[in-house]
Amino acid sequence: MSRPGTTGYGSRTRALVDRGVVAVTMGWADNNGVLRSRTVPVERLADAGRTGVGVTPLFAVFDSHDRIVFGPPGLETPSGDVRLVPAAGPEGIVPCAGRHGLAWSPGRLVAADGAPWPYDQRGVLERQVAAAAEAGLTVRAGYEIEFALYTDGDGEPPVPAFTGPVYGPNALVGLDGFVTRLLADLRDNGVPVGQFHAEYGPAQLELSIGPADPLTTADRQLLARQTIHAAAAAHGFRACLSPLPTAHSAGNGWHLHSSVSRDGTNLLARGDGRHGLTADGAAWLAGLLRHLPALAGVTAPSVPSLHRRRPGSFAAAYMVWGVENREAALRLVPANPRLGAAHANVELKASDASANPYLALACVIGAGLAGIDEGADLPDPVQQDPATWSDDERAARGVAALPVTPAEQAEALAADPVITGVLGEHVTAALRAVRASDAEFAEGKPVDEVLAAFRYRY
Ligand code: GLU
Ligand code: MG
Repeated sequence: MSRPGTTGYGSRTRALVDRGVVAVTMGWADNNGVLRSRTVPVERLADAGRTGVGVTPLFAVFDSHDRIVFGPPGLETPSGDVRLVPAAGPEGIVPCAGRHGLAWSPGRLVAADGAPWPYDQRGVLERQVAAAAEAGLTVRAGYEIEFALYTDGDGEPPVPAFTGPVYGPNALVGLDGFVTRLLADLRDNGVPVGQFHAEYGPAQLELSIGPADPLTTADRQLLARQTIHAAAAAHGFRACLSPLPTAHSAGNGWHLHSSVSRDGTNLLARGDGRHGLTADGAAWLAGLLRHLPALAGVTAPSVPSLHRRRPGSFAAAYMVWGVENREAALRLVPANPRLGAAHANVELKASDASANPYLALACVIGAGLAGIDEGADLPDPVQQDPATWSDDERAARGVAALPVTPAEQAEALAADPVITGVLGEHVTAALRAVRASDAEFAEGKPVDEVLAAFRYRY
């Protein structure tokens, strides 16, 4: 992994100042998917690019409620310092369309001497992108982002900003100002939106972020959150990005779509391998399926994630794949003559805002690569909702539920050397620590109280 570049900040600073930028926020996602940041006056940008800004290494072990879990290697004491640097170079710094005077940069943490730091999540993803490239493969990914909008966000329960009919345009009429501002700000911030709609839940909305290379997609996912929060705040709303806003609302899935290609050929498009896919495409999908119990512990890891995965909610309760099956944890979106081969992708539904997107994408790639490496066999697709089957039927068809408790989730992660290998020893230890701390926080509390504690963390 190369050290971040330190040149080009002078001219970028001048361009930002010309656009009225006063300060630059460097943000990164911690191991709970919670964003953390530092802001520097724009005049200090070149320094920040050269030497970074000092922060505590303990950010690797903040839990979802800001409690610090000492213990993993190098994180036993309050001593130490790492540096926060712009992660995407000078050109990756964009003036925030929704927050005048501020610019945004994805951040990353490096060791005090600028060397890679083993807890840096972006480095984990860079390794997998490189491993894919080594195997001659290119991965593209995009996110669907669901969130709920409240007028009185502090109330219990929070007050929805609009009511149904679900997916209806009329419900949104009163929100024209918010909607147009949000879409314009996303465009101006360089976050490409595929489409936007009112979703199924109370005051639930969805937008999709178009596909790009994995690092760009993760960077954009962080910026999209800022943009949503800024537009909501400007219109007196509160946006809830949590996997499950209340026990009775629909979950906020952040479905992760990905495709893999070799020499420009999308391996998930039609081929002469299993189930009409290419042989490697089928093995890639089989890898995702095989590693799903541990993978979901990274891509949808929080206590609300576990509550979100209720059967019959299009939220990945069961470990199956299907063609366009919205109850399947892995939904194959096939190519067709009208949309073309490039359209083929797999949607991971066990994915939400409580994941660190860099780790999530890294583990998806790692699981897919392992599938190809192992020549994993892809079982038959499931086109029904397994929740409608009896326990005996599910057992006969080998269909299991994804982990539903923190303990099951921790066991699944510990039992999967591929996923822990992708994460590396340090990140695995940190994830284990913060997940255990979150579980301890939730233990014995009513579900409403737990969900309320997560509601605005993302
Ligand atoms: N809201 C659902 C979830 O929790 C997804 C609905 C859909 O398929 O768009 O993932
Ligand atoms: Mg949706």
